[in-house]
Amino acid sequence: MQSSYNPWLVAMSFVVATLASYTALDLTGRIYVLASPRLRHVWRMGGALALGVGIWSMHFVAMLAFSLPIPLGYDFAETAYSLTLAIGASYLALCLTTHTQLTAVRLVGGGAFMGLGIAGMHYSGMAALRMSPASAISRRGSRPRSPLRSAPPAPRCGWRALSNDDARYVLRKRFGAALVMAIAISGMHYAAMAAAEFAPGAICGAAAGVNAAWLATSVILFTFAILIVTLLLSRFDARTSFLVGAVSRLNGQIVRLATLDTLTGLPNRATLTERIERAIHAARRQRSLFAILFMDLDGFKTINDSLGHSAGDQVLSAFAQRLLICVRTGDTVARLGGDEFVVLSENLASRTDAAALAEGVLERMRRDTWADSQPLQVMPSIGIALFPEDGDSVDTLLKHADAAMYEAKRAGRSTYRFFEQRMNEAATRTLQIQNALREALAERHFTLHFQPKFDGKSETLAGAEALIRLHHPQLGTLAPLEFIPIAERSGQIVQIGCWVLREACRQIRRWVAQGLPPIKVAINLSPRQLLQAGLVPTMLDIVNAEGVRCEQIMFEITETVAMQDAARTIEMLREFQASGFEIAIDDFGTGYSSLAYLQRFRVKQLKIDRFFTNGLDAHGEEGSAIVSAIIALAHSLEMDVVAEGVETESQLHMLKAMRCDEMQGFLLGKPLTAEAFGDLLRGRTLTADAC
Ligand code: C2E
Ligand code: MG
Ligand code: MG
Repeated sequence: MQSSYNPWLVAMSFVVATLASYTALDLTGRIYVLASPRLRHVWRMGGALALGVGIWSMHFVAMLAFSLPIPLGYDFAETAYSLTLAIGASYLALCLTTHTQLTAVRLVGGGAFMGLGIAGMHYSGMAALRMSPASAISRRGSRPRSPLRSAPPAPRCGWRALSNDDARYVLRKRFGAALVMAIAISGMHYAAMAAAEFAPGAICGAAAGVNAAWLATSVILFTFAILIVTLLLSRFDARTSFLVGAVSRLNGQIVRLATLDTLTGLPNRATLTERIERAIHAARRQRSLFAILFMDLDGFKTINDSLGHSAGDQVLSAFAQRLLICVRTGDTVARLGGDEFVVLSENLASRTDAAALAEGVLERMRRDTWADSQPLQVMPSIGIALFPEDGDSVDTLLKHADAAMYEAKRAGRSTYRFFEQRMNEAATRTLQIQNALREALAERHFTLHFQPKFDGKSETLAGAEALIRLHHPQLGTLAPLEFIPIAERSGQIVQIGCWVLREACRQIRRWVAQGLPPIKVAINLSPRQLLQAGLVPTMLDIVNAEGVRCEQIMFEITETVAMQDAARTIEMLREFQASGFEIAIDDFGTGYSSLAYLQRFRVKQLKIDRFFTNGLDAHGEEGSAIVSAIIALAHSLEMDVVAEGVETESQLHMLKAMRCDEMQGFLLGKPLTAEAFGDLLRGRTLTADAC
């Protein structure tokens, strides 16, 4: 029998197939990212309905486009069955392809279901024509074609198009894939139809059924409505989910910011406070013991200043990670800020447990090297406060653990200390000094004292060392050994150091203005100042601004600091020397000098620490052997030697006998105020004149 097609309806069937495919792809992408299983299920059902109706209606519209010279109609039950088949297959395919773990097997399975479903729907749809005789829909005699032979494009394309890899929510890609899928579905249909033969004289048993034109219009409209509504809902839902997701992500971030430290991801101060409060309640109820371990990294500021902030951050993160390994399960490790960390360890049997924990941390940190490019060892000083004996509130416990930590620092660092009541006073004193330092520069609480240095042979005045003092209205006069380490920690030493140099220069000029002879003044530099970028130019600017010649200033660097990073020291010494400043190595004998470096420093003076000067009396022959060896060594390296802390006549005699170049000590002259030192200078000048 001769068959023909209505081209408009054929075109329409293709549009329906494309839209259905697009909807299917959109839904797979949509369902794939949904987190809630319930929502996934609802969307799978809705999606299966839309896709099933879409595919079925493509087929049905294509069937309606088809005409034979006999009246045609469709059996309702068979038609409904083919629709159910399409929806069922779509559901199974969606279930497989929208699984959270999209494996190749699932994709192939989904494609196969889709392909079989489409083929099944097609043939059951055709059966709805109820052609009689039954063989009316026959295979072409000469070239028999299996219905399945026309089917393969559908599953293959379904497999490709449903892949979430390709359809990455890019509209163009998705539309392209939908077109391919539509060609596959339509291709399958028209190929299957071409494979069908309608025997002459056959009649359609369902011709009395539903009117074809009416059916075509309503099926197309109905399908479009379903597909478009589904698409719109999917878009709307995607937007809502996006907003909900964004809001919940933002909420998560806010919570993280409020409770966690951003650098290390550890609980922050607020969270720690809350946990200590809870620990206090629990320990009261259970009558148990807990410990707060307060840690501060030794020399962290040096690392930060010399290697830069990103290296500092790396060290902090690495320290945090290692600390987490050291603690027991259930312990809280928090970062208070800067280089301060706290461990809260609950349910301890005794204080020995806390000591063991601290020892474990120190041991672990001693073993590890840090920061990938630089082998660095970063050790903490640890202070321990116990509940209930050391305090019953968060503030007191933290304050006492902090005080114990300071004690550990004073005891030589990289160690731990339990809190003791006497530390409270030390902590209060530290706090008072911190406050005093804050206002000292502005309120002019600092003064400089000058200690004379004398020539070893002639005992004439050779120079002076500037020594800072802090006079506080309440605290009285403070010695530098007490406040310099605190100013070092807070970084205030940099400003204070500039003040010292400026004030020393001004004093030199004042003395000159009084007609006194020019005198060379030694200025102490602290470790923190040495790390300051552009230290030499800054110092040079001050000296120039005050109108003093560089040759009148000598800088003292302690041996320990000079040897810490000897290569850097050499570089800086060259810079100082190039500007015309002289350098002395202070407190020699207290550090571990490498002779090779000492030679390369090429400094003007070596100042023997007063411990060795004292040893001349206290340690007999051994004491004098050491001092004479140091003097001989310095002379062989062409350095002058200054003995510090000369307190007795016998020391003076021995040093003279050993050809010590200069002497400094209470015996010859204590540190004096600027006026008193001026008087000393004046007296010396007068004596010299009289001679
Ligand atoms: P230093 O540089 O070794 O200074 C010598 C210290 O020994 C001074 O203590 C001085 O008073 C003391 N001294 C001198 N002769 C004798 C003696 O015969 N017997 C005894 N027992 N002590 C003597 P001072 O002034 O307390 O300074 C202590 C340290 O503080 C200084 O040691 C220095 O390292 C530091 N310092 C002082 N002034 C400054 C400053 O302006 N800047 C920096 N960065 N540090 C300073
Ligand atoms: Mg000194
Ligand atoms: Mg000294």
